[in-house]
Amino acid sequence: MYYTRWIHSSVKSYIETMDGFRKARLMNCRARPGSAYVPTDVEHIANMVTHGIWILPSFAAGVWMVNLAHTPLQYLTSVIYGMALMALFITSTTFHTISYTGKCMSWKNVFHIGDRAVIYIFIAASYTPWLTLKDMQTWGMQTLWLVWLAAVLGIVYQYTFHEKYKWLETILYVVLGACPAVSVVAMKNVSGLTEMAFGGMVYIIGVFFFKCDGVLPFAHAIWHCFVFVGAAFHYYAVCKYLLGPHNVEAS
Ligand SMILES: [Zn+2]
Repeated sequence: MYYTRWIHSSVKSYIETMDGFRKARLMNCRARPGSAYVPTDVEHIANMVTHGIWILPSFAAGVWMVNLAHTPLQYLTSVIYGMALMALFITSTTFHTISYTGKCMSWKNVFHIGDRAVIYIFIAASYTPWLTLKDMQTWGMQTLWLVWLAAVLGIVYQYTFHEKYKWLETILYVVLGACPAVSVVAMKNVSGLTEMAFGGMVYIIGVFFFKCDGVLPFAHAIWHCFVFVGAAFHYYAVCKYLLGPHNVEAS
């Protein structure tokens, strides 16, 4: 009886708090099935800022990575990762800016699809240095091809079924993000895996907020912050454990 009353009052206060957020224009109602969530003005601004501030640093980070590279393969993977990092923040910020300002609306859909598609590219690019530069016998290259093939299929799916089957889209991100990690069993030298696992965990926790538009205020901006923190872990790990003359394994 006590617990029933406690649950009832908790649900009631949650609904009242959320109504308060909506009245204060900190959050809108959830999107109807098949359509996209419409952020409030402050949510739009938070979405732009939380990725916009990382465009220039991601460019510098990419250049720094290339500077650290010692072999042609290290150089190539640094370019791929650095470009994917920049593409992620640029596409995301452009999409959120177009949605907020209402300018160039004919491009909005293109950048919305691009914003989601770049996640597939970024996942594949995040695996690329590990699968290429770590000595993983034949597993590395096979998994690398599979990851990029899955990313291409993900983008085709995104283009074809944009905003339909949203849960399937999220499951695809998680599957593509998590499954290739199984290939670590073939890794002879496992240095850097702790940071990789931490980064992966941060992304997975972030997915919870990715699905909370209209349930929590600023949910999408919070997701953006998780993306940045996950990417920072992975970036640090790649620089420390995969690049430079002291990290030459399979390359
Ligand atoms: Zn976003």
